[in-house]
Amino acid sequence: MTAKLMDGKKVAQTIREDVKRRVDQLAASGVKPGLAVILVGDDPASRTYVNSKKRTCEKLGMRSDLIEYPETVTESELLSAVHRLNGDPGIHGILVQLPLPRQIDETAIINAIRPEKDVDGFHPINAGRLLTGGEGFIPCTPNGIMKLLEFYGIGVEGKNAVVIGRSNIVGKPAGLLLLRKNATVTFCHSRTENLQEITRQADIIIAAAGRPGMLRGDDIKEGAVVIDVGINRKPDGKLTGDAAFDELEPKASFITPVPGGVGPMTIAMLMANTVRSAENSLLKDKQAETM
Ligand code: NDP
Repeated sequence: MTAKLMDGKKVAQTIREDVKRRVDQLAASGVKPGLAVILVGDDPASRTYVNSKKRTCEKLGMRSDLIEYPETVTESELLSAVHRLNGDPGIHGILVQLPLPRQIDETAIINAIRPEKDVDGFHPINAGRLLTGGEGFIPCTPNGIMKLLEFYGIGVEGKNAVVIGRSNIVGKPAGLLLLRKNATVTFCHSRTENLQEITRQADIIIAAAGRPGMLRGDDIKEGAVVIDVGINRKPDGKLTGDAAFDELEPKASFITPVPGGVGPMTIAMLMANTVRSAENSLLKDKQAETM
């Protein structure tokens, strides 16, 4: 068996087309979805991500504000910026590029974002809604993974899904989304014993550990679906995933490449969340008018 490649660039394009159509619809009501990104410091990887988010926003006709602070910024300065954006009616999504410097309590900053503008889906209210099955913003990377599975017609119900990684950003929400779709989910992490025994049982594996090439050919069963979330930079500067692609491709039924798999989906889902936030706020305004 040679795995079918799950083309994140192609699927992300379909998501962006839908976002563009909705942006045009909102324009007819005089609304332009706005995303504000707060960037602290000069980390090149963070800057690359932020620039790419900004470019995508602009291509889709959305407003994009980049608010930059030096590495020495204080927590109260960042909190003031978040409060200002919370109150700005032209901003529908607020994103704080992580990680933040040591002197800043990341949780305090994320908790200060109004949940209706938390397009990253990291606020505890949105995380709680995901846990309890309510409507809220879902973190972009796991949401993108689910869209990829859906696009390629990969059924999840009843399947044995193994998630390697338990971060609040990727692993946990990915597992919860799979559970919502009735998969049987196992979470693995750095303390997991006999990881290989577990991954070999998996129909679907989400590799999100940030460990280059850790998932090897012998770690999966024939026909497994491999979603590689990892983004790791090799000494030559090229990107590589958590999956040893060359070993897994002959054995898996589907696999995502790195780059070009989950990565493009993350930004597309951020755009989708931002346009949804703008739609929600327009609906709220209309409801307020009729009251
Ligand atoms: P974190 O570092 O926050 O979490 C990594 C998780 O992997 C932890 O739960 C850790 O366990 C677990 N882990 C680490 N080593 C092992 C191991 N040897 N065996 C099993 N589990 C292990 O990372 P993130 O969740 O933020 O990101 C994961 C990867 O995904 C990174 O490469 C990141 O760059 C990438 N990423 C990609 C995105 C995309 O758009 N494609 C978006 C976001 C992230 P423990 O909890 O015990 O420490």
